[in-house]
Amino acid sequence: MGLQEMFGSMVFNDDVMRQRLPKETYRALHRTIAEGKSLNMEVASVVANTMKDWAIEKGATHYTHWFQPMTGITAEKHDSFLSPVEGGRAIMEFGGKELVKGESDASSFPSGGLRATFEARGYTAWDPTSYAFIKDHTLYIPTAFCSWGGHALDKKTPLLRSMEALNRQAKRILKLFGHMDVKRVIATVGPEQEYFLIDRELYRQRKDLMYTGRTLFGARPPKGQELDDHYYGSIKTRVAAFMRDVDEELWKLGVSAKTEHNEAAPCQHELAPIFATANIACDHNQLTMEVLKRTAHRHGFACLLHEKPFEGINGSGKHDNWSMSTDTGVNLLEPGETPAENAQFLLFLVAVIKAVDLHQDLLRYSAASAGNDHRLGANEAPPAIMSMFLGDELTEILMSLEQHKAYVPGEKMQMNIGVKTLPPIPKDTTDRNRTSPFAFTGNKFEFRSVGANMSIAAASTIINTIVADVLQEFADELEAAADLRSAVEQIVVDTITNHKRIIFNGNNYAAAWREEAKKRGLLELPTTPDAVPHILDEKNIALFERQKVYSREEVYSRYEMALENYCKKIAIEGHTLMEMTDKQIIPAIITYSRNIAAAANEKRAFLKDIDLSCEEKRLRRLTELLGGISAMSEEMDGLLNTVPQDVEILEKALYFRDRVFGLMQKMRTLIDEAETMVEKSVWPFPDYGDLLITK
Ligand code: ADP
Ligand code: MG
Repeated sequence: MGLQEMFGSMVFNDDVMRQRLPKETYRALHRTIAEGKSLNMEVASVVANTMKDWAIEKGATHYTHWFQPMTGITAEKHDSFLSPVEGGRAIMEFGGKELVKGESDASSFPSGGLRATFEARGYTAWDPTSYAFIKDHTLYIPTAFCSWGGHALDKKTPLLRSMEALNRQAKRILKLFGHMDVKRVIATVGPEQEYFLIDRELYRQRKDLMYTGRTLFGARPPKGQELDDHYYGSIKTRVAAFMRDVDEELWKLGVSAKTEHNEAAPCQHELAPIFATANIACDHNQLTMEVLKRTAHRHGFACLLHEKPFEGINGSGKHDNWSMSTDTGVNLLEPGETPAENAQFLLFLVAVIKAVDLHQDLLRYSAASAGNDHRLGANEAPPAIMSMFLGDELTEILMSLEQHKAYVPGEKMQMNIGVKTLPPIPKDTTDRNRTSPFAFTGNKFEFRSVGANMSIAAASTIINTIVADVLQEFADELEAAADLRSAVEQIVVDTITNHKRIIFNGNNYAAAWREEAKKRGLLELPTTPDAVPHILDEKNIALFERQKVYSREEVYSRYEMALENYCKKIAIEGHTLMEMTDKQIIPAIITYSRNIAAAANEKRAFLKDIDLSCEEKRLRRLTELLGGISAMSEEMDGLLNTVPQDVEILEKALYFRDRVFGLMQKMRTLIDEAETMVEKSVWPFPDYGDLLITK
């Protein structure tokens, strides 16, 4: 199959719909997709029938309502197209009802208290704005997932609501600028995915990687980050074959991905798709993560999506590239070429600046997880302090606007909104700042804090919501203004004055920035239990309710679920470390100690006066380590057996962070030292060197 035919060949996309649906049905469905109009049952029935025929032609035997519960991964419930009829025959059945709504047992998915036990049912509702597709002989129908009472139990529903909020408010602004033709403003997202690829055989020898996704211990290899010219040489063909396969799988599903090498860390790679609507981008990213893992398996690799698989080696993130676009194809964050366009651009730009400054806490929350805590704040990823990079040029333009001063980009120029055009803003400066959590990159923002293993739904939902809220405020003010131009100017200037503290173009990894950020009054929220409680702040609940993204109950449920998940992750790590310690590490230290002792005895049998201080020193240190590790393992057992029950979830999360995780770090120090001492053939795990080099 040629590349062009292959791309999207398994997707019930616009082309297929146009070809196969009756004109009227196509038009009605298209209106729903493009303009968010609601869909009637008649149309749904025709679509369902056509979809079924198409899917069966492509070899599908089942269909599934595919949804995104709060676990962060996707879930599916498969049903066969076949329905038995009289006489022992079966017919292929799939109607509008089956397409539009599915019933599902919600009791096995986290709900954070939203689902009372007597109300175990949940339902899935078709999301016609994300195309159905075929995978594994199954027709996948993207759906939202709600409780019977109508609460969102998933990540898609709030995302769709936030896109709607942004659409509502951005359109009001565009109307003021005279764009009456715009029917819809769409949040666009392009998530860049980082991941590690390691040998599957070695992966299987480490319970920590298998159970927790990361190594819970492991001494630094003699060579780390700075690797690794020959590494690429030796494994190139195997990795290249994997990448080709990933690309093909994704292309068939309509995901326009391009995998490539990434030299930041050994064995680390990156995959960047072409951006799509925030909703489709989120669905596609879920598919991407799944395809990466499955394809890795087939090629004898394990794909690690954890944010920090190896200590001391760069972790993996997921850059949420975000912008807003009109249905007429205009990117609202593209600096314009006329004075009017510039005024509009600046208004949207300062809206984002204000949104980020006002809601640093929510952005940090949207990137908070036990895994990602290892990354944020380590000197490799955007820190746990939110700030924005605009670049020197754009920053200077804003500052000169604020001070009503001339801006001099080579020639003298009076910056005046709506009168003069902006100087060209360089799109890709060579000194691109890679340390900023929220960077303007020419015509979009790049939110870099999101972790590799996370759904991008939360991050995109938060960005859409906070920007929509500021746009609402701006629109209220501008609609009431007598003179639009001066009102816009006033808003831009005021916003810069009040929110410029969030702009920081320097090195976010520098220790001095933490000091400076504190002086500026910016929040630093190092860990998940620091960040998550902020979603319960009244300002945030009011925001979510105002923008109709989450109800108060839904906010509380997110709080519960985020912290519950945090506790579970760390509990699993604690148990895993304990098991590895008791069954593998302690026996290895004992074996090696015995080897030393036996060797020393044998030596002494030959030579009475031999100096055994080297053996003795080693044996002593190993015995100390053994004692320490074994005592800590017992302590861990105690901690995991006395987790406070019936307390507020935050208290439990703090227990896991301060006690369990704290102890794990202490154990790690001793285990890592033991690893450097114990004979390699006795140490029961592949070490960092094995995992990261020898493939
Ligand atoms: P760079 O690699 O220089 O950061 P790219 O052009 O490769 O820039 O884009 C990186 C990611 O940003 C890609 O996934 C791309 O699709 C996405 N992207 C580009 N433009 C937009 C936009 N307007 N909205 C959302 N994402 C975008
Ligand atoms: Mg990028």
